[in-house]
Amino acid sequence: MSASETRAIAPPSGDEPLALVSVHDLMPATMPAVRRTLALLERHDVQPVTLLVVPGTGWDARGIDELRALQRAGYVLAGHGWRHQVARIRGLKHRLHSLFLSRHVAEHLALSAAGILALMRRCQHWFQQQALDPPTLYVPPAWALGDIAPRTLGEAGLYQQVEVFSGVIDTARGTLTPAPVLGYEADAPLRVPVLRLWNRHARRRAARTGVLRVGIHPADLDHPLRGDLVEDLRRYRRLADYATLLDDPPPTTRAGAARHTTGHSA
Ligand SMILES: [Zn+2]
Repeated sequence: MSASETRAIAPPSGDEPLALVSVHDLMPATMPAVRRTLALLERHDVQPVTLLVVPGTGWDARGIDELRALQRAGYVLAGHGWRHQVARIRGLKHRLHSLFLSRHVAEHLALSAAGILALMRRCQHWFQQQALDPPTLYVPPAWALGDIAPRTLGEAGLYQQVEVFSGVIDTARGTLTPAPVLGYEADAPLRVPVLRLWNRHARRRAARTGVLRVGIHPADLDHPLRGDLVEDLRRYRRLADYATLLDDPPPTTRAGAARHTTGHSA
């Protein structure tokens, strides 16, 4: 995946970057942890919050009712894959990504462009079937969009925005807003120092890009980086919706055709 152009949203000097907060991986099985996470966010007066819903994971009528209630309460729902696991691993690159980064959740990576679009369409169709507001944002599992050109995304016209590892794509324009992502998914001891290092780097970069993402996973509250998460929620108070990025001026800088098929676990 490459976006042909990038744009930075430079904050006025001294200002904090805009912070886009999302909770990943809403599935029936994760909802107890999601509820605890949302309670924490509400205690810290964090809003808006975008919730990434995985449709093909066995939602029943009660679960759908809860999603509708969250929408009514002001949460923004976004599409997040279909099953959040891969049907098959294809190729060495995908195998490595799967082992080291996404741990078998990057379901786009084994698909062709047509397969990726079909999955994205299926995801959106599900929201319509459940009488939920159609999502304007799509986030591929592990932020790994796979092998699809930005132009193809734009032509498909399915979602206004697609979030990848390096930032957020405006599909109509084919532009990418770079936005470093903070993560707290330290579910193994080795991930604690790696994520801390990563997050330090991301906070520094955010001063330049003017936008950062706070990507929360449902089990993060049980992991050792819970304190880091809370600290970031206190630090970054210029909270914004993903859609805010659509209202900004047209892109001014051009970037190379870097690929963004890799990500870490989402
Ligand atoms: Zn995910």
